[in-house]
Amino acid sequence: MRITRRGFAKGAAAVAGAGLLTGMGRAAYGQARPKVVVIGGGAGGATAARYLAKDSQGGIDVTLIEPTKAYYTCFFSNLYLGGFRSLESIGHTYDKLASDFGVNVVHDWAIGIDRDAKTVALAGGGSVPYDKLVVAPGIDLIYDSVPGYSLEASSLMPHAWKAGTQTALLKNKIAAMREGGTFAMVAPPNPYRCPPGPYERISMVAHLLKQSNPTAKIVVIDPKEAFSKQALFMEGWEKHYPGMVEWLPASIHGGIESVDPQTGEIVTGLDTIKADVANIIPAQKAGRIAEAAGLTNESGYCAIEPATMQSKADANIHVIGDACIAGDMPKSGFSANSQAKVAAMAIRADLTGSSKFPPRFSNTCWSLIATDDGVKVGARYEAGEEKIASVDSFISQTGEDAALRKTTYEESVGWYEGITADMFG
Ligand SMILES: Cc1cc2nc3c(=O)[nH]c(=O)nc-3n(C[C@H](O)[C@H](O)[C@H](O)COP(=O)(O)OP(=O)(O)OC[C@H]3O[C@@H](n4cnc5c(N)ncnc54)[C@H](O)[C@@H]3O)c2cc1C
Repeated sequence: MRITRRGFAKGAAAVAGAGLLTGMGRAAYGQARPKVVVIGGGAGGATAARYLAKDSQGGIDVTLIEPTKAYYTCFFSNLYLGGFRSLESIGHTYDKLASDFGVNVVHDWAIGIDRDAKTVALAGGGSVPYDKLVVAPGIDLIYDSVPGYSLEASSLMPHAWKAGTQTALLKNKIAAMREGGTFAMVAPPNPYRCPPGPYERISMVAHLLKQSNPTAKIVVIDPKEAFSKQALFMEGWEKHYPGMVEWLPASIHGGIESVDPQTGEIVTGLDTIKADVANIIPAQKAGRIAEAAGLTNESGYCAIEPATMQSKADANIHVIGDACIAGDMPKSGFSANSQAKVAAMAIRADLTGSSKFPPRFSNTCWSLIATDDGVKVGARYEAGEEKIASVDSFISQTGEDAALRKTTYEESVGWYEGITADMFG
């Protein structure tokens, strides 16, 4: 399957360039337009806001609450670390959502949700009323899941699991690493944002170090026994970076006991690793606004109705993206974008009586291992009674020829162009 920007955004094509949507839809609803508020302008929230505004043609008043003025995608942030992209190329603004689609973009934090009054409180004061609410705050990091790690420690041992300044910090630290030094990653436990992400990052760091610091070593201290696309990554590390990468599962290192941000030491049940650059990726949970609103369960994430993405705790709220438990779907930007369209369709049907079709979900996660050596894993999903269930899947194979791997990488570049246009217009 080859995904291009054109193919990916096909559903949106009819509206591209349509300008501010002030036409029939808005007129039909007059002053009493239903209000949808979206919390979080990432892969899920930006897509939901855009599709709600675009497809309702002004019939729904859409407000997007997002604190940052520029969103840096985590997707392709590893390619920035590897030297394949600039930081600017993964940064996006909300200007077109406002100017071309009529979304009210409010740059502020949502600090509370009053589910009875149906209002969202803002850090800057005031509150925004809603008829339907989309909650898409992504993840929060559970810093103390790694003893010794904290928000403060992340300036010395970056997680870079939210893209932007953290990613730039990590890249600078790698560039300044002493010759022959050690890069150590503490990988996260399941479930976490982007299952292949840590291992794509190891590949990109190895790619960079092979050129700038070829005697450097990379150690992955993993709380898991296995990881996504493991055979593909291990084959790639052996082929492109022989002897450079050491992966330690929990059964070998015996558990991560503590980290010391001042000395760079990582203490495991087996020994102490002194890192010149430490990348600590702790455990994760739904963004705290979801928890504050009582939408999470004991897993730390939000349970949803598979066909509509409605919160199991509140039918007026849809939770999409990394903050929800989406059955077999992984926590990825592609998944969040796919879930956003399902939620937007369900909300429009409820508020405006528009047609509702059986939901379709899909995901592909590409990873770059070395120049032109891309691999992928993906699936199609349907909404079952209990969960969103995988109906068919695919994965790259070990031993594939170089031409196929290059095509797979090129697909990912087309996908990036497509998904960011689908999110931000
Ligand atoms: C290194 C790395 C590589 C990745 N690579 C890929 C990849 O190749 N492909 C892929 O599909 N996925 C990838 N991902 C995963 C992907 O980035 C996430 O799954 C995706 O961003 C989730 O979308 P989301 O909308 O749930 O959250 P986010 O995209 O994180 O968006 C959440 C937004 O909510 C805002 N927010 C949070 N709290 C509040 C609040 N209280 N009020 C208002 N706004 C709030 C935040 O500022 C943020 O902009 C990668 C992740 C990482 C870390």
